Amino acid sequence: ETVTGPGERQVDSLCPFCGVGCQLSFQIEKAPGGERIVSVDGRDGPANHGRLCVKGRFGFDYVASPERLTVPLVRKPGAPKRPVFGRVPANWREQFREASWDEALEIAGGGLAAIRDGTDGHPVHGPRALAGFGSAKGSNEEAYLFQKLVRTGFGSNNVDHCTRLCHASSVAALLEGIGSGAVSNQVADVMQAGLIFVIGANPTVNHPVAATWIKNAARRGAKLVVADPRRTELARHATRVLQFRPDTDVALLDAMLHTIIAEGLVDEAFVRERTRDFDALRKAVAHCSPEAMAPVCGIPAELIREVARDYARSRASMILWGMGISQHVHGTDNARCLIALALVTGQIGRPGTGLHPLRGQNNVQGASDAGLIPMMLPDYHRVGDAQAAAAFERAWGMALDREPGLTVVEIMNAALAGEIRGLYVMGENPAMSDPDLHHARAALASLEMLVVQDIFPTETAVLADVILPASAFPEKTGSFTNTDRIVQLARQALQPPGQARQDLAILVDIARRLGLDWTYAHPREVFEEMRGLMPSIHGISWERLEREGAVTYPCPDETSSGEPVVFRERFPTADGRGRFVPALPSPGAELPDADWPMTLITGRQLEHWHTGAMTRRATVLDAIEPHPTVSLNPRDLAVLGLAAGERIRVASRRGEIALVARADDGVPVGSVFIPFAYAEAAANLLTHPALDPFGKIPGFKHCAVRVTAIH
Ligand code: SF4
Repeated sequence: ETVTGPGERQVDSLCPFCGVGCQLSFQIEKAPGGERIVSVDGRDGPANHGRLCVKGRFGFDYVASPERLTVPLVRKPGAPKRPVFGRVPANWREQFREASWDEALEIAGGGLAAIRDGTDGHPVHGPRALAGFGSAKGSNEEAYLFQKLVRTGFGSNNVDHCTRLCHASSVAALLEGIGSGAVSNQVADVMQAGLIFVIGANPTVNHPVAATWIKNAARRGAKLVVADPRRTELARHATRVLQFRPDTDVALLDAMLHTIIAEGLVDEAFVRERTRDFDALRKAVAHCSPEAMAPVCGIPAELIREVARDYARSRASMILWGMGISQHVHGTDNARCLIALALVTGQIGRPGTGLHPLRGQNNVQGASDAGLIPMMLPDYHRVGDAQAAAAFERAWGMALDREPGLTVVEIMNAALAGEIRGLYVMGENPAMSDPDLHHARAALASLEMLVVQDIFPTETAVLADVILPASAFPEKTGSFTNTDRIVQLARQALQPPGQARQDLAILVDIARRLGLDWTYAHPREVFEEMRGLMPSIHGISWERLEREGAVTYPCPDETSSGEPVVFRERFPTADGRGRFVPALPSPGAELPDADWPMTLITGRQLEHWHTGAMTRRATVLDAIEPHPTVSLNPRDLAVLGLAAGERIRVASRRGEIALVARADDGVPVGSVFIPFAYAEAAANLLTHPALDPFGKIPGFKHCAVRVTAIH
């Protein structure tokens, strides 16, 4: 913190909005009733070098929104739980009454404990009748404590967070193939790449500062291949653009693998010395020639060949991908193909090469590392791994459930089936972010004890039994891990408003009511416990974070400067080798047909972040993109007799919404694109709940819809 003038301070922190992890400074001034952030400046951090996008620079005044939750609330006796369709109404508080912190914590913690212990006399009870959703927007310390609370306080592994809706399939494929779910190379490595292959990602919108490095690299001579069903802004900078048909990633990538093998472009030494199961891949893609796959994916065979040759022959090729790869019912297969591309060509383990799943939320990497997932303890030890589980049992002083818990959508299904009765949600909004929202909201409304800890009355919070007012990002200190595996420190700049409290303190109080004797008073204590149990960050002390501000992991000891490029000699698998897991094209869960003839692709916009809880309350961002829109190719608009600017209806088998039509010739003919940030036209009312069988991620990028005029 630096005093910059009378009543003025500057606090060095981070941007809360995406996994790039830009460092910034909050400029703070005295204001009526306290202090406020008046501006934000970029700092010279490893990921941003002073750069910020519009969200980082202008998306801060949500913190001072009059809609902030400032007092604990409990549902009035008998007040019905009615899911909100549309924006949360101004009278939402009529269902609640104010409570003291003690009373609210007693009702929340007591209610959860009663379900765990069966003291309420209900036949469905026990540890597995409870679940928790932590948050990828919280700090590493909050994520670690949340999963520890579920595992030791609830007594089960029913803990998950939005990684399940984001990169769960990528992580499943990466752990299976190369033994680590994190990126192999950092974004800045694009400056050392000869070829950059961006597939299923729109970094200009979703990782804007990362996109600037990609564009800089392309300008300096790197070949840039952009592959996506939508032609996005990054395509303007590309050497080649592959606008393949939605949901045909495997066909395209198998054809590239076929070409590499058929044309002798395999790195034989790398495959021999560092991989296994190559024969399985060779056999699987033998029939996937570019000629065979071109009619499936819509890319000319010769163009597929040229891209495959360029990727294999470049001195250093790097793959970056996003939700376009992962959010499919075969998202794991998509990622398996990308891993195979890197392994078969030896394009991994050196600067400018490797695999980079661009992380979405600001701490989705760290939250996953910290064990906020139902099948993994911290540092990705499987919950059924007897040796690892025993180590955590010793450290935490109690026996742990050795069975994997349920994932996000499975928890919703279990709630609706009456098998889960209590849910603790810290900083997530499943009533907007889950697929098939009629189902998800009915599931939330059916819970007997829904505890929501948040800063705003979200669509989830209004269904709660107890609402605990929490702290916004600039109101707390903690460590966050960005997409590059860089652990960075965010520092508290403001006090939470009213009676709102820091999330860590609320977690400790809930834990105590569940019988745990927690005494954590500062995130430092939690981080020190974490690094004692997590070899990946063992060399990163809190003092080091305070001194250096950012440290890359793996960081085995305090003299290590971390490893920006990993897998140089071996992969962290049992035999040190990477494994080929072949995948073949398969149909999606719901294909267009005569009644539902178009494909829905959901995603994000530059100005709005995820379910919009923060950015739609940020004045500048909301002014730029105030209304829900649906983008269509102008040819489809003409065929349907619709015009840009007109309100139109988009329906699926699960629901319908009305939005303003936009013409976008980057959207492929036959598809529509809808951002999912808008409660008044929630895209997830339409999406399909089918899951990828490995990553358990829903296919947000593909379902069948119908578009009609509103007369
Ligand atoms: Fe924030 Fe991401 Fe923009 Fe950087 S790129 S300013 S981290 S939203």
